[in-house]
Amino acid sequence: MIRYEEGTAIVTGGLRGIGAAIVRLLAAGGSSVAIIDMAEEDKAQETVKQFRAELTRPGSEIRYYRCDVSDFEASKAVVAQISKEMEKLTMLVNNAGITRDGLILTMSEQQFDDVISVNLKGAFNMIKHCSRQFMKNKFGRIVNISSVSGLSGNAGQANYSASKAGLVGLTKTVAREFASKNITCNAIAPGFIQTDMTKDISAENNPLASQIPLGRPGTPDDIAKAADFLLSSGYITGVVLRVDGGLGM
Ligand code: NDP
Repeated sequence: MIRYEEGTAIVTGGLRGIGAAIVRLLAAGGSSVAIIDMAEEDKAQETVKQFRAELTRPGSEIRYYRCDVSDFEASKAVVAQISKEMEKLTMLVNNAGITRDGLILTMSEQQFDDVISVNLKGAFNMIKHCSRQFMKNKFGRIVNISSVSGLSGNAGQANYSASKAGLVGLTKTVAREFASKNITCNAIAPGFIQTDMTKDISAENNPLASQIPLGRPGTPDDIAKAADFLLSSGYITGVVLRVDGGLGM
């Protein structure tokens, strides 16, 4: 089990799926966690109550902040609020993501813009607003959740694949710009993971799912363990770690 010192991790899209698994592992490792998501306050607080059972360090806490990460000013304000209300900021996981699938011939401008705004610009916003805190603390660990679709492309996902490929370029640039400040930035490229996002995709309508060498879809915990590893390492930066059951070999 990885142990974290005093500090707060921001996890975007942390109320369910992969994000929720990351929140649980970080809390179990002793970190405080600020969850940024879009859910209504009442519903979110129910989930946060369950997450609090995972906390292991006296004084650590989990709080929910409602914010759309694609909104530059709103994400700036929420990072300022978290910095004021919680322990010093040490980690950021850019996990919030959406899909609006369609073949290029039928994909609308709106579908393209929406996905780029949340998946790519949202990560830029969060990194930009957190980086001053990280620099002040001379410490920062960033993990961006990309996708195998961003590395190989995927028919019907021009918007999504472009956003996830963009995250790879963003990750490497952030890694280079901030390395001298003891701030690392890495990406994870999950394969086919069982969450709400993929609940309507079966092996029949996604031929990729039946080609996974390890013979099963991934779980949110599979991705959380990789995030935990990258967040706890101080000597890995700029990497893209595939966690895909061998799909991308
Ligand atoms: P889910 O759809 O289960 O969860 C996504 C979370 O992100 C939700 O809690 C959602 O909140 C939140 N969210 C969406 N838009 C915003 C926004 N604008 N601001 C803040 N929060 C937002 O997704 P997964 O857990 O499956 O995926 C997590 C990440 O992993 C995504 O980036 C996804 O692209 C990536 N990924 C997933 C794979 C998979 O197979 N599942 C494969 C490869 C990558 P709400 O519901 O309230 O809108």
